[in-house]
Formats: sequence, C-alpha cells, structure tokens
Amino acid sequence: MTSTSSNPSSFKPFSRLIDGVENFRSKHFNENRELFQQLATQQQPKTLFICCADSRVVPELMTQTDPGELFLCRNIGNVVPAYGEMMGGVSAVVEYACTALEVTDVVVCGHSDCGAMKALLNPNDPVLQKMPTVASWLRNAEAARSVVEATLPDLKGADKVAALVVQNVRTQLGHLRTHPAVAARLATHQLTLHGWVYDIESGDVRAVDEISGELRPLRNIPDALDTSDSATK
Ligand SMILES: [Zn+2]
Repeated sequence: MTSTSSNPSSFKPFSRLIDGVENFRSKHFNENRELFQQLATQQQPKTLFICCADSRVVPELMTQTDPGELFLCRNIGNVVPAYGEMMGGVSAVVEYACTALEVTDVVVCGHSDCGAMKALLNPNDPVLQKMPTVASWLRNAEAARSVVEATLPDLKGADKVAALVVQNVRTQLGHLRTHPAVAARLATHQLTLHGWVYDIESGDVRAVDEISGELRPLRNIPDALDTSDSATK
C-alpha cells in the first residue's frame, strides 16, 4: 500500500478509498481477469479464517492469499461464542464454512496490542462502559481472562495483554469444538483447527500450541510440516 498524502490538511480518508477502487479496476483487476472470471459464479475456499476486526490485521496480506482462498469471519477480539450461547453471525459463518463449503482448516488468529483484550482486563474503563454491546460480546472471552488471572497472577501491562491474546485463542478454539458442524468434521478427520498469533510490529506469525499455550514457528507444527514435505516432493 502506498503512503498517505504528503499534505495532511488536504488528506481525505474516504476519497483515498475511491482512488483505491479506481486503481484496483485499472490495474489489479485487469491483470487478473482470468481469476475473477473463475470466481464470478463460485467460491471454493478451503480455510475459514477468524480474526479481529482490528484494521491492522489483514489476513490476505499476512498469508499472501488471493480472492477466493479465505472464508473470513472478523469481529471484536476474534471471538467464537460457544454453540447455543449466541446464535448469531459467527455461528452461521462457522456452520456454512464447515457444511456448505467443507473447509479443511479453521484458523483462529489473535494479534498483538488487541484492544478487545485490553478492554477485558479493564472492565471499568469509562469508554467500555459506554459500549454495553461490546462489553456483552466480550463475555465470550471471559474464561480466557480468568485463566490468565489464575495461572499468571504476577503479570502486568503489555505482558498480561500478550498472555491474554494467546489464552483467548485457546479459549475460542475450545468454543469452536462445541459447534456441531465442527465436531462432526473433526470426528471424521476432515478438519484441522489452528491457533495463530500475529505480531503487528515484527510481522511475525506464530502458532499457538493449544495444550501448552506456547508460541511456536508455524512450520514446527506437525500438520504444517507434513503438508510442506508432500508439497515440495
Ligand atoms: Zn483485536
């Protein structure tokens, strides 16, 4: 992406979007007409990618994927309510991805400096108190906060936020398993769940070991190694 206008006083954020659309039509779309023609009437994404609505998290950029590859679900805090808790948009996306699209992988991706995780740790924050819907939504991550408070009681500040980002990914993976469509595909070995954490400052993406909570290089996870080996031979 290009930098913003050199004259901040004349910079209009929305007109930048329109410039972007024009640029997309004249360049990227024209150069990739065949791809868009293939996608015109069908999609066959094999990955459901669940991440935060945070503007700094850009899944297609991070994974270098094309249109049609990622089925996306974005919300405050990359949350997946446990099945039956809130039968809303997230549950519908999970069900559609697993049943209609038959995705083979689901990624729950948290990120550094997550405002939702900070809010979870500061429930009395005056701004959060003005947002009852956000506060209610974050109850779906409350179990993550209680795990961090109980297991890492001495953590403070940014370290505590970072620990909560990881624990929240683990908690939401657990919630995913309560969804019947996920449970069925897991039971028949047609689906793999992945927890990731994206670090905005370094660009690093790490896999969350769901059992230990440790962060590891993506390729150290056995499934990723197997895939890589077979793809390169
Ligand atoms: Zn976030």
